Amino acid sequence: MRQPTSRREFLKKAAAGASAALLPMPAIAQGAPGRVVVVGGGFAGATCARFIRRIDPRIDVTLVEASPTFTACPFSNNVIAGMRELRAQQFGYDKLANDRVTLAMSSASAVDAQARAVTLANNSRLPYDRLVLAPGIDIRWDALPGYTEAASERMPHAWRAGEQTLLLRRQLEAMEDGGTVVISAPANPFRCPPGPYERASLIAYYLKTKKPKSKLIVLDAKDAFSKQRLFQDAWKQLYPGLLEWVSLSTGGKVTSVDVPNMTLVTDFGRHKANVANVIPPQKAGRIAEAAGATDRTGWCPVDPVSFESKQQPNIHVIGDAAIMGAMPKSAFSANAQAKVCAAAVAKLIGGGKPDEPRLINTCYSLVAPDYGISVAGVYRPADGQLKDVEGAGGVSPADAPGAARVAEANFANGWFKTITEEVFG
Ligand SMILES: Cc1cc2nc3c(=O)[nH]c(=O)nc-3n(C[C@H](O)[C@H](O)[C@H](O)COP(=O)(O)OP(=O)(O)OC[C@H]3O[C@@H](n4cnc5c(N)ncnc54)[C@H](O)[C@@H]3O)c2cc1C
Repeated sequence: MRQPTSRREFLKKAAAGASAALLPMPAIAQGAPGRVVVVGGGFAGATCARFIRRIDPRIDVTLVEASPTFTACPFSNNVIAGMRELRAQQFGYDKLANDRVTLAMSSASAVDAQARAVTLANNSRLPYDRLVLAPGIDIRWDALPGYTEAASERMPHAWRAGEQTLLLRRQLEAMEDGGTVVISAPANPFRCPPGPYERASLIAYYLKTKKPKSKLIVLDAKDAFSKQRLFQDAWKQLYPGLLEWVSLSTGGKVTSVDVPNMTLVTDFGRHKANVANVIPPQKAGRIAEAAGATDRTGWCPVDPVSFESKQQPNIHVIGDAAIMGAMPKSAFSANAQAKVCAAAVAKLIGGGKPDEPRLINTCYSLVAPDYGISVAGVYRPADGQLKDVEGAGGVSPADAPGAARVAEANFANGWFKTITEEVFG
């Protein structure tokens, strides 16, 4: 709990022993309850900002977000397959005012961890006592030879929802029946481990119903993937002869792309595509690197209790940008981590010690519009990271009746409605 008196006395003594010019002056030193800046208003950041205010309304919270409209990735595969419109994925930030979160609609361009201040693209500076970074992912443009930002206009990644999602959809719509679609899936870790396989399923559904002479090849840099048996059983049942998955050991790893020839190159051969969806290697959103919070992997190591950076004190990292051990990079995880982080930040600002958390994740995937499957896990801190709680969680049963798959597709829709309502509603 908060300990205002002892903390104030401690700060008075500290200030007496050092010049004010050398000491960053956090708001708490001046008797105010504390200032938190959250960078990134996605599933992680917007949730965290709101929950800090709900846990302790005395804390001043500013949410920095680059875009006035958030476009959600979950269900964006349905948009690609023509089953949903992009506007159903889009949300604004006006409701965050209900929790008295201050909005700064700008991009954060730099973090001065020593002075505890964030610089925005418009050159304004936001001082903080604690900073929460939730910038999601960036593409590693240097990781796959030939795959540049310009190349993504011909071979979309569609791994950040928006224009790229629509581009891939338009390309599928323009393709003649009998064409070949190629998806390349990256090695771990990356945003949404089951995402490429849900995408393959829904594109296969589109082809089966609209362009049945076409073919879909998934080139994979892995030998195993999330919910693999469930996906593959469903593919056999729903898309026989249409969808082919090529594993790492059978030559699936894409080593370069030849954009002018619309070709994906592996060590085993070349795959010409009419439509190519390249899901490239990823890293934490670039502000995390600018803040000095990333390690050599490009992701951010964090303490598994408070999600404070292991590299930069007073900076917390949540969502896809963070290394969360066994917990996958999902919107469900990001939202759960955000609540834990909000409680930890409020505790720390009040001079307390964060409680050890337990976190849950569930990832639904659609194999067809009325065919859902899921994987769930429970996680706890152990040995400096988040580990699976043995015996908790699991995947949908392999031999479930059709009605169970329909029910899971409905649960997926319900989950999306609930989470977006909680984050943006
Ligand atoms: C095709 C696809 C399907 C998916 N399906 C599911 C699913 O079914 N279920 C599920 O749980 N997850 C799913 N995911 C994963 C999910 O989208 C991510 O895990 C989730 O969005 C991570 O949340 P985040 O807050 O970390 O990042 P994001 O949601 O990406 O939010 C990051 C925010 O930070 C902002 N930002 C970044 N840098 C700055 C900066 N410097 N200054 C200001 N703002 C900045 C961005 O504009 C963005 O709004 C899917 C992903 C994909 C690609």
